[in-house]
Amino acid sequence: MRIGLDIDSVLLDTMDEFLKLMNNDLKTNFIRKNITCYNFNTKLGISRNEMVSYFKKIDYKKITLMDENIPTILNEWKSKGYKIDLITNTVGNINVIVNRLYELGINYDVLFYLKGSKKELSSTYDVFVDDSVKHLEECLSLKGNPICFNQPWNQEWDGVRVFNFKQLDKIIEEGY
Ligand SMILES: [Mg+2]
Repeated sequence: MRIGLDIDSVLLDTMDEFLKLMNNDLKTNFIRKNITCYNFNTKLGISRNEMVSYFKKIDYKKITLMDENIPTILNEWKSKGYKIDLITNTVGNINVIVNRLYELGINYDVLFYLKGSKKELSSTYDVFVDDSVKHLEECLSLKGNPICFNQPWNQEWDGVRVFNFKQLDKIIEEGY
């Protein structure tokens, strides 16, 4: 079994830190459920560049897990001999992210830090998990096996969806 996992908003709760940073700066009160599309900057009243600059300012040293069961489940997959790769095109500092993944006990094989599309790589896995509808659709277009990690901004995805890692584990072990 070869599993490809996104980092931001799948393994790590990046949006939570983003919202704290932005709300603090702009004196706003946005919460996760207000983020109902991937290009949400217009909804927040900020430019695309401003949005990206907040993501770049995120301190990954403070970032928490998206799901507390992630380390245990990843360890179980590794003990079964599964290959777990991380596939990211984050704008965050990759060295800080790698350290944080280690601190949080995230067990994986290879981290692919891509500057462009995840399309070709993501479609080569038995399962590819992401929160971005664009990445999921691209994976599907090359006959990959995308699974959506539920977030308010990916509700238009009508394929396979999981709400947590226990559900993901069940799908991986038992099928859809
Ligand atoms: Mg993501």
